[in-house]
Amino acid sequence: MQTIGLIGGMSWESTAVYYRRLNEQIRSRLGGLHSADILLRSIDFDDIVSLQKQGRWDDASAVLVHIARGLEQAGANCLLICTNTMHKLADDVQRAVSIPLLHIADVTAAAIRAGGYRRPLLLATRYTMEQDFYVERLRDSFALAPIVPDAGDRAIVHDIIFDELCQGIVREQSRQLYVDVITRGKAQGADCVILGCTEICLLIGPHHVSLPMFDSTSLHADAAIELTMKKVDAHARLTQGIPR
Ligand code: GLU
Repeated sequence: MQTIGLIGGMSWESTAVYYRRLNEQIRSRLGGLHSADILLRSIDFDDIVSLQKQGRWDDASAVLVHIARGLEQAGANCLLICTNTMHKLADDVQRAVSIPLLHIADVTAAAIRAGGYRRPLLLATRYTMEQDFYVERLRDSFALAPIVPDAGDRAIVHDIIFDELCQGIVREQSRQLYVDVITRGKAQGADCVILGCTEICLLIGPHHVSLPMFDSTSLHADAAIELTMKKVDAHARLTQGIPR
């Protein structure tokens, strides 16, 4: 089985979701005592938040690049950055290693396109909603027309992520605030919702809203499993003498 390298801890609340999902997916596909082959580097999120707040993205990049190289050297066959926001630095990370980095926006956008949707409401951190690295990728590489909430709603979404979800706090009142943001997005023409922050799945799910929902965390983890299983299938064909 291929080894999945996780750059995690941003926050650990969502990295724990990745860890569980990756293992559950392997168990459901291979059964018995099978589990995912994972290399996880989990860092102190407070250090990263401090760099984000100061706009010190070059320093943050150096941290991620160092971790990525370490995971590659330790034997990872692919890499996942377990946060949407830090995909701002995805190109730096990919350039630093020779193993593939699975981009969270790409797997999410591909699922939206496969579902036939075009106008996703993007719920994410302020960095992801307001800077170009994510929204432009959705537009340019996938021909999507993302809708970003207005300034007031962006503040609600961002603050709940950092003040609550990343700290393990899940409040019914905040869930309702998110549902209200989604309702306003739908009125603006959104045809689906991107949970574009890896902790939002801790707060809301498809049963809370009337729009189709695309959860970046589960889509990202599932894409890693697809990659791993493709290799497993190829290996099984070889060892069982089944022609490709
Ligand atoms: N996990 C979040 C995300 O997916 C936010 C944490 C961070 O700023 O990296 O964007």
